Amino acid sequence: MTAGNKSNKDEVRTGVYICQCGTNIAGTVDVAEVAEYASQLDSVVVAQVYRFMCSEPGQEMIKKDIKELGLNRVVVASCSPTMHEPTFRKVCEQAGLNRHLFQMANIREHCSWVTEDHEKATEKAKALVRAAVRRVFFHEPLEVREVPVNSSTLVVGGGIAGIQAALQIANSRHKVYLVEREPSIGGHMIQLDKTFPTLDCSACILTPNMSELGSHPYVELLTYSEVEEVSGYVGNFKAKIRKKARYVDEEKCTGCGVCQEKCPWKVTSEFEMGLGQRKVIYTPFPQAVPNVPVIDRENCIYFQKGKCRACEKFCEIGAINFDDEEKLIEVEVGNIILATGFQTFDPSVAAQYGYGKFDDIITGLEFERLCNATGPTGGNIQLKDGSVPRSVAVVHCVGSRDEEFHDYCSRVCCMYALKHSHLIKEKTDAQVYQIFTDIRCFGKDYEDFYERLVGEGANFVRGKVQQVASANGKGMDRGKLTITAEDPDNGKVTQVFADMVVLCTAIEPQQDADKVAHIFTVSLKADGFLLERHPKLDPVATRTDGIYVVGCCQGPKDIPDTVSQASAAAAKVLAVITKGKVELEASTAVIDEDLCSGCRICNLLCPYSAISFDDEKKVSNINEALCKGCGTCVAACPSGAITHRHFTSEEIMAEIEGVLV
Ligand SMILES: Cc1cc2nc3c(=O)[nH]c(=O)nc-3n(C[C@H](O)[C@H](O)[C@H](O)COP(=O)(O)OP(=O)(O)OC[C@H]3O[C@@H](n4cnc5c(N)ncnc54)[C@H](O)[C@@H]3O)c2cc1C
Repeated sequence: MTAGNKSNKDEVRTGVYICQCGTNIAGTVDVAEVAEYASQLDSVVVAQVYRFMCSEPGQEMIKKDIKELGLNRVVVASCSPTMHEPTFRKVCEQAGLNRHLFQMANIREHCSWVTEDHEKATEKAKALVRAAVRRVFFHEPLEVREVPVNSSTLVVGGGIAGIQAALQIANSRHKVYLVEREPSIGGHMIQLDKTFPTLDCSACILTPNMSELGSHPYVELLTYSEVEEVSGYVGNFKAKIRKKARYVDEEKCTGCGVCQEKCPWKVTSEFEMGLGQRKVIYTPFPQAVPNVPVIDRENCIYFQKGKCRACEKFCEIGAINFDDEEKLIEVEVGNIILATGFQTFDPSVAAQYGYGKFDDIITGLEFERLCNATGPTGGNIQLKDGSVPRSVAVVHCVGSRDEEFHDYCSRVCCMYALKHSHLIKEKTDAQVYQIFTDIRCFGKDYEDFYERLVGEGANFVRGKVQQVASANGKGMDRGKLTITAEDPDNGKVTQVFADMVVLCTAIEPQQDADKVAHIFTVSLKADGFLLERHPKLDPVATRTDGIYVVGCCQGPKDIPDTVSQASAAAAKVLAVITKGKVELEASTAVIDEDLCSGCRICNLLCPYSAISFDDEKKVSNINEALCKGCGTCVAACPSGAITHRHFTSEEIMAEIEGVLV
């Protein structure tokens, strides 16, 4: 049976609605001619044109026709389905028609916007409408299914993004599990000294939130832990979390710090960016949450050589437990927020910057620790030999906007470079050179901050750094390192002398971002950051319902943008929790057991782990709650045993024929 079969015209009654979209479509396509053409197609009983079909009068026109003309199929020829398919499906439903008896033809993005010739555009629009009419003929009503939502939420990553999202949800009295892989929450923000543009102390504004989270009745903090496996679907996820052994009993420990004092062994501190040391039993920083130390097993002399146990001897309450073992914890949640943050570019791979080769060339994050009153120098900006620098060069865009490394802008470096300039001026008499190619101060009050810094007397040198090298005696009165930079516009080369060089290194995706993407079935962008569902209209959701991305794991951003994004995701989660139920995808795949050969190819390919194998019947099974209707299994099945509801061979062939006729 085809849509061209006249005998079915009485059964299938299709309404076609052509949108002018102002002049977006009507400026190129002769919409009246398309409507006239559509009205002649088999099964079409009405074809109408309207200025904005998505407007209320446009929607009312469709509803009226469905009711008065007894339409049982609707085609709207307008923009991309991404924009308005949900709108028109709702219109059908409100008029009593199953929402899946609807088809959209995209005559804007696929036609009027990309075809200059009016005649050709009109012909193309006719072909697209014809294809939609033929396809909708075969549509079947699909059932909309709903499942209840578990009101608990899993937040992965305890930087400012995770902390903000978790607190917002927990303050609405809904349970949150926050998983952080380090021994304490805090992320990069707790490492910063002051924050631009207001220059408030980073720890002072972050620690109140950290401690609120640490003692929140609705938050279960799982630090030193990582999510290993996730199954389920929106509203009903199950996550397996591996909690590493701390060797300190979290229930008993009072955080008195005696064990750390008495531990005789010191190693390089990761928190201090290698500029300071920590004990082998340690909390990464004084305000750690939880304030419970961990034993670094690899460096602990007792674990390596069987001797010491000093921490155990001095712990009066007996909180040290050398027999502690890692645990596997399972939690059930309705929604998941990914807030796994970023890492910074390692400048030692770019030899021109001299990092690792010469003393006193440091990264921006190292500078933050150097400046910090709780840092390795007590907040004194000093060179490796303990002297105060006479001059400091702050180099922008190290690894960012650089085709060899990352071509994107890291968005925070210009601003933190200016902040560093201010801190150097505040604490020393050093000359400051900002070596930049462009200055981007895009945020609220950021331009004022820039003007303020210009007023403070920093020297701005335009150029891309070619080389940082030892001054070898030349210019020693000004600085012991030379920085050679070339203006990208006119090729002018400038040389600057400085005692210290601060490299503003790029914000990069975490090294294991692909592993996280795999565990949570989310996608990565080409640059390696986690991909949001829509960059403008849905910037915190992902293509997997119930999973959200916030903060720098989605792309470089500053703290204000991170906090806004985290709040947006929390609001989305709370909306789902409040609704109490979620709709599942109706357009799913189905297996015909009689045709299934049991080859299991679909089991392996399904990106949502929705297909399992029935060992007794020797056939594959689709869990419809998990199926997202991506169609991978349908295309791969060698026996043709899998059908995709709403994308059957009949429907697709009818559409293709419609375009080609
Ligand atoms: C040198 C420098 C200076 C800056 N100065 C400023 C400033 O002055 N003002 C400003 O607005 N912004 C500044 N920024 C930017 C700011 O640091 C970020 O906007 C902010 O830290 C982003 O927070 P986040 O939570 O997204 O990521 P992060 O701070 O990176 O936190 C991510 C957290 O997730 C954890 N994690 C990662 N992977 C996993 C996993 N698989 N499982 C569990 N946990 C995981 C990490 O351990 C970490 O705790 C600066 C950045 C740099 C590099």
